[in-house]
Amino acid sequence: MTDPHGFLKFPRRPVPARPVEERLRDWNEVYAGQATLPLVSEQAGRCMDCGIPFCHSGCPLGNLIPEWNAYARRADWRAAAERLHATNNFPEFTGRLCPAPCEDACVLTINADPVTIKNVEQAIADQSWERGYASPRPPERLSGKTVAVVGSGPAGLAAAQQLTRIGHTVAVYERADRIGGLLRYGIPAFKMEKCHLDRRIEQMRAEGTVFRTGVDIGSDLDAAELAERHDAVVVAVGARGQRELPVPGRELRGIHQAMDYLTLANRVTEGDFETSAVTAEGKRVVIIGGGDTGSDCMGTALRQGASSVVQLDINPEPGDTRRDGEPWPVYPKVYRISHAHEEARGREGADPRVFASATLRFEGDPTGQVQALRLAEVEPEGRRPRPGTERGIPADLVLLALGFHGPEQGTGLMRQLGLRLDDRGNFARDDGFGARTAERTRPDGIFIAGDAGRGQSLVVWAIAEGRSAAAATDRYLSGSTVLPAPIAPQDRPLVA
Ligand SMILES: Cc1cc2nc3c(=O)[nH]c(=O)nc-3n(C[C@H](O)[C@H](O)[C@H](O)COP(=O)(O)OP(=O)(O)OC[C@H]3O[C@@H](n4cnc5c(N)ncnc54)[C@H](O)[C@@H]3O)c2cc1C
Ligand code: SF4
Repeated sequence: MTDPHGFLKFPRRPVPARPVEERLRDWNEVYAGQATLPLVSEQAGRCMDCGIPFCHSGCPLGNLIPEWNAYARRADWRAAAERLHATNNFPEFTGRLCPAPCEDACVLTINADPVTIKNVEQAIADQSWERGYASPRPPERLSGKTVAVVGSGPAGLAAAQQLTRIGHTVAVYERADRIGGLLRYGIPAFKMEKCHLDRRIEQMRAEGTVFRTGVDIGSDLDAAELAERHDAVVVAVGARGQRELPVPGRELRGIHQAMDYLTLANRVTEGDFETSAVTAEGKRVVIIGGGDTGSDCMGTALRQGASSVVQLDINPEPGDTRRDGEPWPVYPKVYRISHAHEEARGREGADPRVFASATLRFEGDPTGQVQALRLAEVEPEGRRPRPGTERGIPADLVLLALGFHGPEQGTGLMRQLGLRLDDRGNFARDDGFGARTAERTRPDGIFIAGDAGRGQSLVVWAIAEGRSAAAATDRYLSGSTVLPAPIAPQDRPLVA
C-alpha cells in the first residue's frame, strides 16, 4: 500500500519542463532529464490506493496504477516495471505522450490535485530500461502459424509483440521507410525522442518479429496474396485520410497539410536532410485546427524560427473548470495549455490561439504565394460566420491541422481484401475485431486494429487495440487464448 497520509503531506509536484528559451534551441524532449527518482517516489506516495481506483476508468489499458504507485513509492523499480508491463507493451511511449485521462479520473481530483500518474509511469518505464528489466522475451515454443501485420504504428507494434511472444511467426509490413507510424513521422521528437522507438524495435527483433519496410500492401504486394500466404492478417494502417479545407485560394503556394509538414520536420531530426523543404523560418505561420496536431505544428514552427505563430480553433474557448455536463471522472473539455502554447506565450507574451473562428478564404500575391487569410467569428451553434466580424491576418505559411476522416479510401488494400467502411468512415469490423468485408460478414483471419477501425484516437487506445486484436487473432489461430483483451471494438473513452 502507498503512504496513507501521502496526499495530506505532499502537494502535487509534476516533473518540471526545461526552460522555454533552452528547449526552443533544440529538438530534445521538453521534459528531458528532469525526473529525479526521489520526487517520483514522493509523488507516487500521494496515491490513496482507492478501494475502487477510478484512475482505471480513464485508462483503456487497465493499467494497474495503484499497484505500481506503491512500488514506485518504495523505489522497488523492478516490481513496478513488472506491474507496468503487465498491461502495457510500451509504457515509455504513453508515459511521454498520453494526455493522461487517468489523472482527470483520479479520486483526488474531486477536491484536490491528482496523482502525477503520467510522470510515475514514465519514470518506471525509463528505470526498467536503465536497469535492464526490459530484456527481450522470445517465445518458449513456436506455434507454426504465421501472421502478417500491416502497418507499424503503436497498434501494429502492440499486436505484433503480443503475437510473437505467444509463439506465432509475425512479419510487420510498413510502406514507409522506417517503422513506427505516427510515432515516427507525426509526433515531433520534442514530445518523444525516436531512440525510445528504436530501442523497442530492437527488442521486438530480438524476440523474433520480422520487419519489412518500404512495402505498400495493396500496391507493392497484393493484399489477397498476403492473406493467402499467412494464417492471419492484422490490418493496422491508421486513419490517414486527411480533412481538407475547400475554400477559395486553397491552391496557393505555402498552404500545406500538417502531416506533410511534420513528416519533413521529423525527417530532418532523423538526419535525412539538413533542412526541411517546408520550413517556418522567418515566416508568419497560421495553423488551422485547435487540436494536438496543430500544437505539434506550433512547437515545430517555433523551433524552425517562425517570426510569428497563430492557431485558429473553430470551437469556442473552453472554461477553466468542469462544466455541469462534465462530472468527474470524465475527461473534461477545459482550457489546456500545451508546452507549445507555453513556448509561444513565452516568446510572444500572449496566447497564440484564436477561438471560435473560421477561415473564409486565402489571399495570395501575384506569384501565387499565400500572404493572408480572411476569417470570421462563428456562432457557437451551427458554426456559421457572424456578419460584420470578418478580418484578415497575414500568413506566409498555412498549416491545415483539421484531423482525419478515417483510413484512406479506394486503396488497393481495401479492394483486394474487400474491406468495407462503417457508418463513421472506419474499416467495419465485428465485436471480435474481425473485418466485415464486401462478400462475407466474417472473413477468415482478417482483423482490424487501431485508428483504422476506431478512427483518429490516442496512442494508449492504439496499444489497447493492438493487444485486444492480438488476443482475437490468437483465439482464431489456436482455438483459445491467454492473451489479455483490455477493450472491445465498441468501447469509447469517458469524455464529455
Ligand atoms: C501529429 C500527431 C500528433 C499526435 N500526438 C499524439 C500524442 O501526443 N499522444 C497521443 O496519445 N496520440 C497522439 N496522436 C494520435 C496517435 O499518434 C494515433 O492515434 C496512433 O498513432 C494510431 O496508431 P495506429 O497504429 O492505429 O496508426 P498509425 O500510427 O497511423 O500507423 C499506421 C501505419 O500504417 C502504415 N500503412 C498505411 N497503409 C499501409 C499499407 N497499405 N501498407 C503498409 N503500411 C501501411 C502507415 O505508413 C503507418 O506507419 C497524434 C497524431 C498526430 C497526427
Ligand atoms: S484514483 Fe488516484 S488516488 Fe486513487 S488509486 Fe488511482 S491514482 Fe491512486
